[in-house]
Amino acid sequence: MTGKIEGCEGGCTCGLVRYKVQSAPLIVHCCHCSFCQRQSGSAFAVNALIEADRVELLTGEVEEILMPTPSGKGQTVARCQKCRVAVWSNYYMGGLRERIRFIRVGSLDNPDLLPPDVHIFTKSKQAWVVLPPDDLSVDVFYEYGTTWSADSLKRRGALFKDAGIEKPKKSMYK
Ligand SMILES: [Zn+2]
Ligand SMILES: [Zn+2]
Repeated sequence: MTGKIEGCEGGCTCGLVRYKVQSAPLIVHCCHCSFCQRQSGSAFAVNALIEADRVELLTGEVEEILMPTPSGKGQTVARCQKCRVAVWSNYYMGGLRERIRFIRVGSLDNPDLLPPDVHIFTKSKQAWVVLPPDDLSVDVFYEYGTTWSADSLKRRGALFKDAGIEKPKKSMYK
C-alpha cells in the first residue's frame, strides 16, 4: 500500500534542513481537517508516517512549534529555523508522539512517490476536491487494524513495546 522511498531525501526551501528517509512509511494520510487547511493554507495536508529514528536529519536544525489539532492534544511542527518551511510534525498518537514523524510529503524531493493511502476528515473536505473513486476515505478517522498493512501494524506494535505502552486505546488520531 505504501510507496517505496527508502533512501529518499527531502528538505526545506532554503536548503538548510535536509533529511533522509530510511524506510517505507507506515501509512500516508491525506488530511482534510480544517486545522490542516488553515495551517497549510491549502485544501489538505499529505503526511507520511514514519518511525522517528528512520528519518535522519542530514543538515540544519529544526525548531518545533506547538499547533492545535482536532483532538486538542496538539502537534509539534518542525520548521527550518531560517526559511520556516515545515518538514515534519509529531502528533500524540496514543503516546507515540516522539516515536513517529509525520513527514510533510511535499517536502520530499520526489513527493509523487507517496500518494495517500487514506483520506481522513473528509467531513470537512472542500467541495471542489474530488477524490479518486477507488481511494480509501473516512469521515473522521479509521480503525488501525483494518487500515494499516500487517507489516505496519507490526512496526506500530514494536513502537508501543519500546515506549512501554501495553494496551493502545482504540481511537488514536490524537
Ligand atoms: Zn530552510
Ligand atoms: Zn488534519
